[in-house]
This record gives sequence, C-alpha cells and structure tokens, in this order.
Amino acid sequence: MLWTASLCLLWASSILCVPVNKQRQRLLLISFDGFRWDYDHDVETPNLDQMAKDGVKALYVTPPYLTVTSPTHFTLLTGRYIENHGVIHNMWFNTTTKEKKPYYQTQFVNEWWDNGTLPIWITAQRQGLKAGSLHFPGTASSYQGEVAMMRDVEPRLYNYKNETAWRENTDKVMGWFRDQDLDFVSLYFGEPDGTGHKYGPDSPQRREMVKQVDRTVGYIRSSAKEHGLAEHLNIIITADHGMSTVYRNGVVEEITLSKIPGFSFKDVSFYLVDYGPSGMLLPKPDKLEKVYNALKGAHPHLHVYKKEEMPDRLHFAKSDRILPIILWADPGYLINGYFPVQFNKGEHGFDNQEMDMKPFFRAVGPAFHKNLEVGPFETVNIYPLMCHILGIQPEVNDGHLNATKHMLVTSDSTKGTDTNILQNVFTGLIAVAGFLVLVFIVMISHKIVKNRKEDKRSDSSKHLPDNNSVKQTSF
Ligand SMILES: [Zn+2]
Repeated sequence: MLWTASLCLLWASSILCVPVNKQRQRLLLISFDGFRWDYDHDVETPNLDQMAKDGVKALYVTPPYLTVTSPTHFTLLTGRYIENHGVIHNMWFNTTTKEKKPYYQTQFVNEWWDNGTLPIWITAQRQGLKAGSLHFPGTASSYQGEVAMMRDVEPRLYNYKNETAWRENTDKVMGWFRDQDLDFVSLYFGEPDGTGHKYGPDSPQRREMVKQVDRTVGYIRSSAKEHGLAEHLNIIITADHGMSTVYRNGVVEEITLSKIPGFSFKDVSFYLVDYGPSGMLLPKPDKLEKVYNALKGAHPHLHVYKKEEMPDRLHFAKSDRILPIILWADPGYLINGYFPVQFNKGEHGFDNQEMDMKPFFRAVGPAFHKNLEVGPFETVNIYPLMCHILGIQPEVNDGHLNATKHMLVTSDSTKGTDTNILQNVFTGLIAVAGFLVLVFIVMISHKIVKNRKEDKRSDSSKHLPDNNSVKQTSF
C-alpha cells in the first residue's frame, strides 16, 4: 500500500516539475553594417516593407558608445555596454610597445575578445543548443577555449559588397540550420557601411546599396522557406551603428590636434586618433593636466573628457583599456593628429545620441507579432530578447527583457511557455486529485473487507478452542 502511494506521488510530482516542453525556436541574427535607421526613407525597399508587415519594426535602435563596428557588435552578442565587455575599439593596441592592429587583424587577437564576457554562441552551446556564426565580428576568437560550433571567418581583403557572395553565405547559413540542426546563427554583411564611408550617406551609391540590401532581405526569407525553416525560424535584422556626412572643402574649421596651441604630441606616450571622430590619449607621467587643459575648449566641436569625468550615459569609462583622455567630435567633424589623413565622405563613431548613429531594426518569425511598429530601444536589450526566444539563461548583462518583450507574441514562444506551465500544473493537480481518490477507494475497500473478515471470524470463533482465539486476536 505505502509502496503504491509513493510511486503515485513520485509520478504526480514528476509531472509538476517536468521541464517546459515548449515549441523549439530557432533564431538568425543578421547585421548589415552601418545601416542607418532612415535608409529606407529615400529608397524603395519592398522586401524590408514586407518584413515589417509580417513582423516587427522599431523606429530605430540606439547603439552603445563608442559607435564603431567591433565594440557595438560585441554588445549585440553579449548585452553588455562597451566599458563592461572590454572590446573598446576596432583596434587592438598595446600602450607599452605602441603596437596597433587594424580591424581585420584584431579579429584574431583572442585576448582582446576573450575578456570575461561570453558571446551568446558559447552560452547557448553550454546550455545544450547549437550555434554558428558567419563573418560576424568576434567569430574568429575563442572564448574560454570554446568557439561557435559552425563558423566562417572572411578571408583577408574580402570583397564585402559582392551580392552573389551574399546569397551564397545566406544559403550556407540556412544549410547549417537544416543540416546541422543549429538553433542560433549570427550573420554579418559589411554593407552599406563601406559605401556610406566612401560616397557618403546621402549619395546615390548608398541608395543603390540599400536596394542591394533589400533584395538580399527578400532572398534570405525565400531561402529560409526553401530550406523548410520558415515556420520555426525567427529573423532579427539590425546594424551596429549609422553614418554621418563629413564636412569638407573649407566648409568648416577641421580639428587637427597638432595645430592646437599648448598641445604637443611630445606630452603623449600613446594615442589613438585619425580614426573618425573619436580619439584616446595616454599622457606622459605628470602631463595629464597639461594635455587636458590645452585641448579642453580648444575647438567648439571637440569634446574632451578625463576618463573619470565621462558622462555616465555613455558607459565608456570603467574598462582599464580606456585611456585617461577621451576625445570626440560633433557630427561632420573628424579628429586628426598631425595633419588630415582621413578622406571618407561618411563616418561613424559619434555620440550615440546623434540620430545619424542610430541603426534600423526588424524582426520576423513565430516569436514576433505581425505588423507591429515599436518605439526605439537600446541594442543592449537585444541580447536578453534573443536568450528568451532560445529558452536559455542569459549571462550577466546590461539589457532588460522588459524593453523588448512587447514585440513577442503570446502563443508560440513566451506565453507558449506560460501556457505549457499552466497545462503542466493542471495535469499535476488532476493527478494528485486522482491519487487521493484512489487512496480513498483503497482505504474504504480495505476497511469493508476487514470488517467482513472480522464478522466472519467472530462467527467462527464461537466454534474454536480458546488458544486459537488468542492467536487470531494477536494477528
Ligand atoms: Zn560598422
């Protein structure tokens, strides 16, 4: 009897505690580098428009500061502000040896990326999912000895604007989902950033490149269907930063540090300038105040901050890698060192409050509402959203699911989970009630049988000798 009861209870509790058997959600995160939030305003974008009808469109999103490629992409993958994840620049540097590595070479410097914060690929894999990445910044590095299960790093001198290669890369990723059974993939396209830099964000070349992006969005969605993935695949498309026109040809007074009275590169032991509108300086011992005082207020469009005085809203101070003096210029301006060496017509790296730095955001798939336009949010919030869709426990991060959960439907992903929990609880309660009824019936039956036996015994005991009667009583 007790053994049966224990088994019943174990069964009932196992139903109550069973892991949520939710429908499996897959997720593809796509970045089109430098796709500004309003790039679809002056170009026909039928595929992006269709995606907005079939899913969610945000007015814009706000990237973290510093608005450059590797740091902002690592925020997408980790949900951490740049000062917290430590990938503070596109360029790895060493202030002692004065060595610097450009963007592509920095992709292969493990210690630059593997800095205590795990990208979502590793977290997903540690929780039993399968992840991949194609060309996404950070893919080449390993993290605590682990890499994405499927990964593809672009070769040096890669042509980032070849539309045929874009389609091949798309099909490769869809093949990973279908044939390798991946749950999450991040996919990177290097445009329209390159075209925006070269020709400027207001150029016809940029508009043509946006059309190419739009065609590719259509191709991505049709490729998902052809690979039989449309029903379970969620697609998020966003970017790392926007783009702003650089003022030139004598229109403005350019910022060239060497021309600023009282400033000398002799007082600086290491510097990162000539890299768009941002810069960092490491003054020589006892020269910090001199350098700071010379630069502060020297140009009306140059912002100069000591690291510890950086505005909190920029979240760009805490990392040990950030140098003691930080510089940034207003939109339209660049920071030159000895003399101008930058000739791009478009740049990014400006304050993330500037509208020109805001990327676009679209999402479609079973987890998302249809035909919903939402207000802006910070890109740190994309990470907890992705973890939620995938059903994994996020690492410590700076985002909040509350900022994005209104984009999610209630049946398939999020509330699907709630519904399943309720179903499990209901089933469990039914099981417990059934068990109690069973126990009640068994007890009643036992009692009836016992009473009948006792009645029989009392009848027969009249005919038994006294010693047998004693034994029966002690039974
Ligand atoms: Zn970029």
